[in-house]
Amino acid sequence: MLTLKPLPANTKPSLLSSLTPFRPKTQTLTKPFKPHSNLAIQSVLQWNRKPELAGQTPRVVVITSGKGGVGKTTTTANVGLSLARLGFSVVSIDADVGLRNLDLLLGLENRVNYTLVEVMNGDCRLDQALVRDKRWSNFELLCISKPRSKLPLGFGGKALVWLVESLKSRQEGCPDFILIDCPAGIDAGFITAITSANEAVLVTTPDITSLRDADRVVGLLECDGIRDIKMIVNRVRTDMIKGEDMMSVLDVQEMLGLALLGVIPEDTEVIRSTNRGYPLVLNKPPTLAGLAFEQAAWRLVEQDSMKAVMVEEEPKKRGFFSFFGV
Ligand code: ADP
Ligand code: MG
Repeated sequence: MLTLKPLPANTKPSLLSSLTPFRPKTQTLTKPFKPHSNLAIQSVLQWNRKPELAGQTPRVVVITSGKGGVGKTTTTANVGLSLARLGFSVVSIDADVGLRNLDLLLGLENRVNYTLVEVMNGDCRLDQALVRDKRWSNFELLCISKPRSKLPLGFGGKALVWLVESLKSRQEGCPDFILIDCPAGIDAGFITAITSANEAVLVTTPDITSLRDADRVVGLLECDGIRDIKMIVNRVRTDMIKGEDMMSVLDVQEMLGLALLGVIPEDTEVIRSTNRGYPLVLNKPPTLAGLAFEQAAWRLVEQDSMKAVMVEEEPKKRGFFSFFGV
């Protein structure tokens, strides 16, 4: 039977001391993975109304993690396109200097001719560097620099502050969302990416290394004055949680003490869509991970969060004598 486990009101038990080796206490799962979930129906119904946008525009959201390869770029592409499909105007910025790949995930790599570095150098206008998606014209991509290049000296957070101000005052109107795909690590690239943000989405996977980095990043974001931090737990495998081989989402939430924006299952479709340059949320029929990204986008718009719930345990394997009622 499903039972809701209330979350502590002011949970902040994170800190590295709590990152002891994983000892699963409860077998937990989150809402999207209920076996008889009505997610697909909800998702269809939701397209009938545009959600109420909470907060001031533009909402400048940095998608960060500390650790690399946990799904920041995948999240930026899919949440960004979900927001555009909901009718919001979105500018997504690939702030991963030298190792950019958001353009690849979006299938826009051949259309990036200029980057922010060239705009700052005066080699082109800002609108020339913004790449408009053909599928959703209210979605635009801006790359900070060319692949394999280094961040020029003197280029830092101020460039992104200037960029946000320029986008606010541009002729075609201020975007509703500016999503910044943050590079891995906590060095200059990270500082540059978070400077102009006023909220953050922390992407983590349910493993100890990713959690340690995430916890460090939360501290740095808070130092920088970003208090609105929500978390996406990516690459969750329910079979492993049930087998007590993976940390549950509830455990992750208890460790980091952050509001939960979404839970994305491990899904081979993500890898397929990455390689095709066709974001998952555009897939028809929708996949489980695609729906989970859509739901996360909705919560982002409405400043909402979800709660992890407990699920019933797998029935224990019964022995030979159970046949006789023993
Ligand atoms: P980051 O930007 O944090 O470095 P990426 O978004 O580039 O991470 O993702 C790294 C790899 O993980 C990619 O190959 C991507 O396809 C894969 N990946 C991300 N999320 C999932 C998921 N939910 N299921 C399966 N593969 C995933
Ligand atoms: Mg990335």
